[in-house]
Amino acid sequence: MAVAENLARIKREIRLAAEKAGRDPGEITVVAVSKGATLADIKAAYSLGLRDFGENRLQDARQKISALPGDIRWHFIGHLQSNKVKEVIRSFVQIQSLDRLSLAGKINKAALEAGATCPCLVQVNIAAEKSKFGLRPEEVKDFLAAVSVLKGIKIRGFMAMAPLCRDPEETRPYFKAMRRLYEDNKNFPGTDMTFLSMGMSNDFHIAVEEGANMVRIGSKLFSN
Ligand SMILES: *Cc1c(COP(=O)(O)O)cnc(C)c1O
Repeated sequence: MAVAENLARIKREIRLAAEKAGRDPGEITVVAVSKGATLADIKAAYSLGLRDFGENRLQDARQKISALPGDIRWHFIGHLQSNKVKEVIRSFVQIQSLDRLSLAGKINKAALEAGATCPCLVQVNIAAEKSKFGLRPEEVKDFLAAVSVLKGIKIRGFMAMAPLCRDPEETRPYFKAMRRLYEDNKNFPGTDMTFLSMGMSNDFHIAVEEGANMVRIGSKLFSN
């Protein structure tokens, strides 16, 4: 089974990267990004012990969520339209793509109506790319000040994507900058900073070396 071999390779790379940085590999959570995967492959990943899965579109996730075991922790990782917030809060354990104040307002309202608190990561557009969503690093403090007081939201960390680089090594400065931003805001009042979610198939080893404790891996896990 390709998924088993892929996961073994990914785990080995995570371990090597963690050791290189003097970190415990056990503190790094793999989120299996299943957006392009078949149900059979997701089940294979589940049977190998993975429990955190990421989806970026509600329409595609719905069917998988209802067909797969109830103890899967689904992470929403895509750009979230306000009219989808209610359902996403119900079906996902965490929204990793909180990228604007208006969305925070919608999540807060929906969570309070459901008598819940929604764990969220703030998405940071670390390289200030036009093509990407997320806050500019310099906007993060004001954003945290505004959102940390909302009772329906608990900010649990940051999510970021490095620019697409031919050589993964080129992503390092961006991950370093994210780590710095995370450390700077680690004790922001009213938040519970726990996750630094960064690193994908091409660059997760660099992200782990630079301090990621959550990596989001799709193609490298589910490719044949
Ligand atoms: C698709 C996606 C990933 C996984 O990307 P791969 O390169 O396939 O590992 C991670 N994070 C987000 C936000 C994504 O949309």
